[in-house]
Formats: sequence, structure tokens, C-alpha cells
Amino acid sequence: MKDCIIVGGGAAGMVAAIEAKRAGAKSVLLVEKQSCLGKKLSQTGNGRANYTNLSMNANAYRSNHPEYIPSFLKHFDSRDSLEYFKALGIYPKFRGDYVYPYSDQAKSMVQCLENALYKLGVEICLQHRVEAISWTEKEGFFLKGKKLLPKRGDDSSFHKDHFSDYTLVSGSKEKNRKKEKNKKEKMEWEEKEFSLQGRKLLIASGGLAMEALGASGEGYGFAKTLSHTVSPLFPSLVPIYTKEDYVKLWSGVRVDVRAKLWKEQDLLFQDEGELQCTDYGISGIIVFQMSRLVHTLLQDKAKFSLELSFLPKFGEEEAKDYFLERKTLLEKERGEDFLLGLFPEKLSQVLYERVSFPIKQKIKDISDKKILELCLLCLHFPFLPERIGDFQRAQCTAGGVNLSEIFIPDFQSKKNPDLYFAGEILDVDGICGGYNLHFAFGSGILAGRAMGKKND
Ligand SMILES: Cc1cc2nc3c(=O)[nH]c(=O)nc-3n(C[C@H](O)[C@H](O)[C@H](O)COP(=O)(O)OP(=O)(O)OC[C@H]3O[C@@H](n4cnc5c(N)ncnc54)[C@H](O)[C@@H]3O)c2cc1C
Repeated sequence: MKDCIIVGGGAAGMVAAIEAKRAGAKSVLLVEKQSCLGKKLSQTGNGRANYTNLSMNANAYRSNHPEYIPSFLKHFDSRDSLEYFKALGIYPKFRGDYVYPYSDQAKSMVQCLENALYKLGVEICLQHRVEAISWTEKEGFFLKGKKLLPKRGDDSSFHKDHFSDYTLVSGSKEKNRKKEKNKKEKMEWEEKEFSLQGRKLLIASGGLAMEALGASGEGYGFAKTLSHTVSPLFPSLVPIYTKEDYVKLWSGVRVDVRAKLWKEQDLLFQDEGELQCTDYGISGIIVFQMSRLVHTLLQDKAKFSLELSFLPKFGEEEAKDYFLERKTLLEKERGEDFLLGLFPEKLSQVLYERVSFPIKQKIKDISDKKILELCLLCLHFPFLPERIGDFQRAQCTAGGVNLSEIFIPDFQSKKNPDLYFAGEILDVDGICGGYNLHFAFGSGILAGRAMGKKND
């Protein structure tokens, strides 16, 4: 029987395993269904891993029980994160308040964590998918699942060799990794059943966001079997879709905007940033930040409007004056050149079409009324959301294992003192800016410490 078993070798699971071992647990076993650790982590922040934020505060997080977030942040804020990762060799790079590894490589975070796991002697089972978990007071936790093994290979199950065989964390790493990749691709695999037994269990199996990076949601089923409740799950930090046809025209445009989200007279959200126009709608950080709100408004069938200003630095009067001045400046050109030099051509085309701008007419012959109509559209472009993106496009899962059933800061279950949860599986989701990794790492570290310490 293992002292501690951790399901999920992602951001939360890796640091939890390190901390459980450091805290004194004799045997710590990390179980991961994929062929490597930290697959999602290595893709975060466009491959750069925005792992925390200097402006850490509870308002950056959403949950059905937000009252528990301050207690978490009291025990793990951005300074704790910076110190923790510095000690592992990850020097911070700051872009405003956003923090990245100095290498700008998310993969280097995974490698530093792998090195620590290896040095501490954490046992790793890769390609082991946990399918069922049960618990009895006498026997502890019993896990069953399927593992992938090389055909006719050594079925020596889960120990250090398995880790070093398949991920190679020591020696000439890069060379070995490449060799190993080629070897793996040529190998034939077969599925076998496995079972594991542990005194303490941490579920850090992530959420539903991006199946391609390992998200499959089995953890929610395990939580329910172990008497926990799971609040409704929906995608967060996602693009927003529309049914409007014009999006086919503007696909590929990137432009700075100010976005405003109104519910009747109430301004719910306002921000400036880069908008990515796609053939289904809008994307980019500014869109991710408001996607959760848009989801709720759509669910509630509320009356709301989303307005984009393509002239975020202009006030209304200033913009009107400038458009009329432009009419004089460009009087000899045709209408189709009116927005040339202001916006990308594809966006201008959408704007012209929306107000039936006379693109073939000489600019001097276009009425001031039409020029101002175009100006107002540039300032108050109405975007009609139809729905938000699904989990395949989401960076995060909203909802999850109910926080009121968990002791914070230990992340220990109130239903079973030997059970812990950490990371995205919990009902906590952050806005963009490093808050989600901060929560995954912080909850993993605190849970791992508690789990290892209480293990004598
Ligand atoms: C494209 C993308 C970019 C992102 N960028 C950022 C960013 O820059 N900053 C930020 O703060 N957040 C970012 N996030 C969010 C962040 O990645 C997650 O919040 C974080 O990875 C959650 O960590 P976790 O350990 O809880 O889950 P995960 O990292 O998803 O790890 C869970 C692990 O459990 C394994 N697993 C699942 N089920 C089983 C099972 N049954 N048996 C065995 N193993 C299992 C999975 O394979 C996975 O490896 C991004 C997300 C995405 C998708």
C-alpha cells in the first residue's frame, strides 16, 4: 500500500507529489494517463506559461463559494509562487503583472518539476488511466484502471524504472527524449488492467477544458463516488460565437478595441485589448475575460448588448471631428479608401457594408451624415453573441467539486480525512493572467504538504 497516491500528473499533481514527499510521506505515487507529465502545462500561455500574477486578489476568481478564496490566497499568494519556483530554478520574467519563466518556455517548468520529482524518488506511472476509485476504512483507497504497455514488453508495473524508461529525466535529456520519442512511435502497445492501493489520495485530474491536452473529466465521477457534489460545469475563457455572416469577411483580423458589456443600463464589463476576429466570431484575451459573463447572460435569457469600439483611444466628439477632418483630407479619394490606414482592409469592408457606405463615390461627395454614421459604428459596433465556445476551445472549466466540502488551506475533504483535491477539478476558475495556474500550483502545493505531513 502506498502512503500517498496522486491522480493526475498536471500542474497541481506534480507539485503535490513533490510536496508530499518533502513533507515526509514515505511512498508517493503519481498516476498519469498520458505518456508524459504536464502536457497541458507545457502548452499554457502560448507555450510560455503565465504562471502567476503580481496583482493577486480574490476578485480574479469565480466560484459558487467565493468566500473560501481569500483563505487560499492568504496561504499562497504571488510572492509564495515566485519563491517556490525560484527555488526550483525558474527565474521570473515580468510582463506588467503577468509572470512567466525567464526562459519563456512552459516546457522548462515541466522539466524543472520532473527533475524535482525524480530526485525525491516519487514513483510515476505514465499511461495509466484510472477508471474507478473506491474506499474502505480498513483498506484505504483502491484504484482500478487500464495501462498501456509495450507489447511483449516488461510488465514491471509502476516504479521508478517506468518513469525513467518513458520520460527520461536524467542524462543527456534532449537526445534521450528524441530517441525515446522515435522508439515510442515504433512500439506496439497493449492495454492491461492495473490496480493500486493507497492510504491517502489526492485527485488532481483537471477539468474538461481541451481534451487534446488530457482533459476528460473522469475526476468528477470519482469525486461523486467519494460522496462529493459537483456544481454545474461549463467552459470558461473561450471565444464568443455569432450567427452574423459578416464574420466570414473579417476572419484573421487583429485589432485593438474597447469592449463594453451591458445588461440593460448596467455596465457589467469594460476592457481594452487586442481582439482576434475569426470566421465564427471573436477571440483573444479580452473576449476570454468576458466569456463567462456572456455565458450566464445567455443562459438567463437576459437582455444584454456587447459593443466594440475600434477607436478605443478616441472620445465620441474627438472621433466625429476627426472623421470630418478626414473627409477634407481625403476628398479626392473614393469611399473605399476612407478607412485606409485606420483599420485592416477586411475590417473596413465589414464596416462599409454595415452602413452601406458609398465606396465608389468620391469622398468629397459623401454626406457628413454618412461619414458620422460610419464613425458611430466604429465607436459602437454591436456584436451579437449566439453562444460561447465549447470545452474544446476553453482554457478552463467553470464549476467543479464544491469548495464548501473542502477544508482550506489543506484542500482536504470534509467527507473523508484521507482524501484531497487540487487544481481545476475544484469549483474555482480565474480570469486570464496566470490566475488558473496560480490556483493549480497553490492548491497542489498546500494539499501535498498536508497530505505528506499527516502521514506518519
Ligand atoms: C491552451 C491553454 C492555455 C492556458 N494558459 C494558461 C496560462 O498561461 N496561465 C494560466 O494561469 N492558466 C492557463 N491555462 C489553464 C491551466 O492550464 C489550467 O488551469 C491548469 O493546467 C490546471 O491544472 P491541473 O493540474 O488542475 O489540471 P491539468 O493540468 O489538466 O492536469 C490534469 C492531469 O490529470 C490527468 N488525468 C485526467 N484524468 C486522469 C485519469 N483518469 N487517470 C490518470 N490521469 C488523469 C490528465 O491527463 C492531466 O495530465 C491554460 C489552459 C489551456 C488549455
